[in-house]
Amino acid sequence: CGIFAYMNYRVPKTRKEIFETLIKGLQRLEYRGYDSAGVAIDGNNHEVKERRIHLVKKKGKVKALDEELYKQDSMDLKVEFETHFGIAHTRWATHGVPNAVNSHPQRSDKDNEFVVIHNGIITNYKDLRKFLESKGYEFESETDTETIAKLIKYVFDNRETEDITFSTLVERVIQQLEGAFALVFKSIHYPGEAVATRRGSPLLIGVRSKFKLSTEQIPILYRTCNIENVKSICKTRMKRLDSSTCLHAVGDKAVEFFFASDASAIIEHTNRVIFLEDDDIAAVADGKLSIHRVKRLASDDPSRAIQTLQ
Ligand code: GLU
Repeated sequence: CGIFAYMNYRVPKTRKEIFETLIKGLQRLEYRGYDSAGVAIDGNNHEVKERRIHLVKKKGKVKALDEELYKQDSMDLKVEFETHFGIAHTRWATHGVPNAVNSHPQRSDKDNEFVVIHNGIITNYKDLRKFLESKGYEFESETDTETIAKLIKYVFDNRETEDITFSTLVERVIQQLEGAFALVFKSIHYPGEAVATRRGSPLLIGVRSKFKLSTEQIPILYRTCNIENVKSICKTRMKRLDSSTCLHAVGDKAVEFFFASDASAIIEHTNRVIFLEDDDIAAVADGKLSIHRVKRLASDDPSRAIQTLQ
């Protein structure tokens, strides 16, 4: 129901500051209603070889999640991350009862190789789940969302090249999905990277840079606007100049990105936002945001789509 994610890129933040940003983001979305909440954050600095993603999930209020975060002994609050990507979610259950296992982030496996937060409903999740179970992937929740987490791992496990990008994996995944979704992915295989996408459910990205974005970069940004003008901009949407666009922060590239399902969670951080459109994939790697539109599979028959996957 509510998505909020935060990346600090070359902007040092302590774990406590990261927690506070994530929790505040979720609190801004509380008015939409929800039954449980959760976050995924890094266990170690990205420089450290052994990477881990920690999931903290709780049934009930965001406040209960906040308290739970501070109870985790393994979490040194003073640890500083120069770059970190944290994702957070408030769930309004559609498939599976409200409890910690069913709440988001959902994960690919016990090592949390891929984690995902999702707003919406995947209508072909049963077919996808059956297919993935037949390939040996074990499910732990009753949600439609868990299918997405397993599917991205399946695509990764069966990748044809070692250097496949995070955004290519997500592209393959959404080509299999039917229904409505806003998704944000995080992975131990792509530390310091973020991928977000949507179809039918809203998702926007806020960008805050200490440095002014250069003027040549601004015209290629489509749907960039001041948040105060959200309504008027939606009416007079800027024409997309290219099928793919890229935003670079200038200077030493220190930049922060905010992903949210609702502008109210971003407004306090920045007034520079990009609204994703259906089948857009937004990827942040090396502090750069790029957005491209994915072609849907020709087939609207989910079983045929699964065959393509095999
Ligand atoms: N369908 C998903 C679930 O039940 C997401 C619900 C939501 O949008 O919060 O877990």
